[in-house]
Amino acid sequence: MELQFDVNLKPYNTLGLDVRANYFVDINNIEDLHLAREFCQHKQCPWLLIGGGSNLVLTQSFDGLVMFMAMDQVFWPAEQPVAQRPEQFIVSAQAGYEWDLLVEESIVRGASGLENLSLIPGQVGAAPIQNIGAYGVELKHCLDSVQVFDFDTGESFQLLLADCHLGYRDSVFKRHQSWIITQVKLLLSREHKPKISYGIIADRVTSLSGQPASSASAQQIRDAVIHIRRSKLPDPNKIPNVGSFFKNPIVNIEQMQKLVERWPGIVVYAVDENNHKLAAGWLIDQLGWKGFRQGDVGIHEHQALVLVCSGECTGKEVLDLAKRIKADVAVNFGVTLEVEPRLFDSRGEFYL
Ligand SMILES: Cc1cc2nc3c(=O)[nH]c(=O)nc-3n(C[C@H](O)[C@H](O)[C@H](O)COP(=O)(O)OP(=O)(O)OC[C@H]3O[C@@H](n4cnc5c(N)ncnc54)[C@H](O)[C@@H]3O)c2cc1C
Repeated sequence: MELQFDVNLKPYNTLGLDVRANYFVDINNIEDLHLAREFCQHKQCPWLLIGGGSNLVLTQSFDGLVMFMAMDQVFWPAEQPVAQRPEQFIVSAQAGYEWDLLVEESIVRGASGLENLSLIPGQVGAAPIQNIGAYGVELKHCLDSVQVFDFDTGESFQLLLADCHLGYRDSVFKRHQSWIITQVKLLLSREHKPKISYGIIADRVTSLSGQPASSASAQQIRDAVIHIRRSKLPDPNKIPNVGSFFKNPIVNIEQMQKLVERWPGIVVYAVDENNHKLAAGWLIDQLGWKGFRQGDVGIHEHQALVLVCSGECTGKEVLDLAKRIKADVAVNFGVTLEVEPRLFDSRGEFYL
């Protein structure tokens, strides 16, 4: 374990926030985690694990040890199908492997299941934390199990899908913050069935390939998803951001009916017979925030859900803007927005 001191975290978070870590280390194996744990116990300092940094807001310099997840091996199955279940394809990747690289490689190897989740930034190990999802697919649809290192006890163990309690942008890991995911096993399929319930995917596949979406290959779905995402979402390498800043709020049927009466154009999706999900981006857009700019922070001009930064913005500016939007939505729609990225100050996580 190679310990570094007073390290700039700007390259480690996609908002480009210019904060520092007292101590910093790359985690290359489980032994490094044990050593990092001993170090934090000895120093009695807090710790924070960072992956791709695309779902966190570092509002202050960190007064402890920041660990960068650098375990990045991937274990592809042998080319021969598994005897009992020839249609299945199991791949294991260490936490630090790049998510989108795994998606790309799985398709090249003839495995289907991840294509709708193309181009989501970040690492494999972070994918279960908020059960990443896009275009009608969530990680829970293909997760088999994860390997966990408990930073409190130093023990390693496996969790099966059911134990991860994956929900909408949620999992058991948000309630067990000492659990570090070290490896993820995914259950993919050799038989491709295109998932095109999101109308925009079907339209884009057809416009790009000229073929009906129902017969699209996994690669064609991936191409369509990438095309849509590039046209809608800012590239964090060019415009610093953390993707959607707020979760889509879930309301009960009475609230939903009142909102629809008052705002006939409101975008609503049924979750189950009692609950409905509102498009947070629509709410924010209605209040005129799209394209708003104040100093070095603002709202993306095409995507009301995405807060953007210029090179010099601070975590405080990001939080102040988020609070203003949250308050505006609460006053006008009676709906409480929840922040999607994780928020950290000098000692650890906090909530808005
Ligand atoms: C342009 C853009 C588009 C996005 N689109 C989507 C989308 O479509 N769908 C979606 O779901 N998300 C999306 N996101 C959010 C983000 O990419 C995902 O949440 C991603 O999984 C975060 O991965 P990361 O490695 O960057 O995590 P980080 O930002 O590094 O970490 C996020 C949190 O997870 C914790 N964490 C990270 N790795 C581990 C680990 N191995 N074990 C335990 N805890 C860990 C961190 O401590 C932190 O609390 C988008 C982000 C951007 C910038």
